[in-house]
Amino acid sequence: MSKVKNTIIIIGGGYAGLQAVEELAQESTNEIKLFDKNPYHYMQTDVYDLIANEGDFADVTIDLCTFCTGFCGNATFFKEEVTTIDFINKKVITEQQRYSYDYLVLAVGARTKFYSNVIGLTEHGYGVKALHRAMYFKQKFEMSLFKKLDEGGRYCQPLTIVVAGGGLSGVEIAAQMASFAKAFYEENNFICRKLNIVLINSGAKILQGVHPKLVRQSQHRLDSLGVITKTNQKVVEVKEDEVTLSNGEVIQMDYMIFAGGIEPNGLVFDLDIYKTKLGYIEVNEYLQSTQYDNVYAIGDCTTIYHKQKPLAPTADVAEQMGILCAKNINNSIYNKKLLKHRIKSRGILIALGRGYAVASLFGINIKGYLAYLLKKMVEKIYAFKLDRRSRAGCNKIFNN
Ligand SMILES: Cc1cc2nc3c(=O)[nH]c(=O)nc-3n(C[C@H](O)[C@H](O)[C@H](O)COP(=O)(O)OP(=O)(O)OC[C@H]3O[C@@H](n4cnc5c(N)ncnc54)[C@H](O)[C@@H]3O)c2cc1C
Repeated sequence: MSKVKNTIIIIGGGYAGLQAVEELAQESTNEIKLFDKNPYHYMQTDVYDLIANEGDFADVTIDLCTFCTGFCGNATFFKEEVTTIDFINKKVITEQQRYSYDYLVLAVGARTKFYSNVIGLTEHGYGVKALHRAMYFKQKFEMSLFKKLDEGGRYCQPLTIVVAGGGLSGVEIAAQMASFAKAFYEENNFICRKLNIVLINSGAKILQGVHPKLVRQSQHRLDSLGVITKTNQKVVEVKEDEVTLSNGEVIQMDYMIFAGGIEPNGLVFDLDIYKTKLGYIEVNEYLQSTQYDNVYAIGDCTTIYHKQKPLAPTADVAEQMGILCAKNINNSIYNKKLLKHRIKSRGILIALGRGYAVASLFGINIKGYLAYLLKKMVEKIYAFKLDRRSRAGCNKIFNN
């Protein structure tokens, strides 16, 4: 057996990082240090509800300090942004300090890609991968609905929200906002009901890579909610109150949510470590960096393959990577054989407004209320497990 305590640093308290903490903390000889620039875990998969004003930020966050305190004393949270890593001397560097590690797990996720060739995008486009931005959109949505009420009358100007990007996040957000607003106007008998949600998609069909049946069902649902989908169009210019599409069409809008893709985050971009062509951290079949075998990369900051095809970056895949990487670190400590990854997508659940979803789980397609219940159940079970850990931590802190 190796030395008594093994220091394992995990950078990133997202879907991948938290699963790794959960698994690694079961070994009392592991000393786990979790770093995140934010004090909370942000449940991005549930953010469509928040943006459409259906919930508040507490519904999509878990406090990372109480989460780590919920273990048996071998997990500690550091709210510090990691600025660089000295892989040779095994040091993680933040603005505050340098921290030594035996094993390092990179789980820093990805960031919204703001294309430099889209004029005005960096000034006027915001994504939802950061919670403060999602909160901004939530408040903006409510204020915009109020503004329409305030303007009053049947002939009020329509409220137009552009969602750029017809992937999973863009589709869920567009459907939820349309569905919420529809019910909101009807339930409250308001006369001003003009809401245009415009979904811009660069390909011929939304939800690229998703099973054609689910794509058809999702498009049908969007149409029935009144979402205007513009396919084969790219945003080429953004101003404060208008977007221009590649076919020259100019859309006057109140605001735009940008969900047009992701790229490696700032830390990964700067790190001196082997990367893929697209700039993600290159890993082997054990999820180890191809350059340093005591460094693992999991979640959206890396790319893994199933049947020679890259797996889409999802929370589902990130969680599976978190568990496997932790097992391999434990195996490595105890000189056991490392496990090769056999990770694949376990399914897809797409929320499409109140009481409606489409899903494909273990090869079975479901749509409607049942799929919606399943989506909610998956979200609730995930949050419940983390919440239970966080509650235990909270009790320790406040009862001591
Ligand atoms: C709107 C939306 C909807 C989605 N819906 C779904 C869905 O329905 N199903 C699904 O499976 N997936 C969905 N996804 C994708 C899913 O959220 C991601 O695949 C998942 O979050 C990846 O997990 P991760 O742990 O790799 O990264 P993240 O969850 O992004 O976590 C990364 C963490 O690293 C931290 N971090 C980053 N840089 C640093 C640094 N330098 N120092 C310290 N900390 C740092 C961040 O603060 C963050 O907490 C959705 C994504 C979005 C944006």
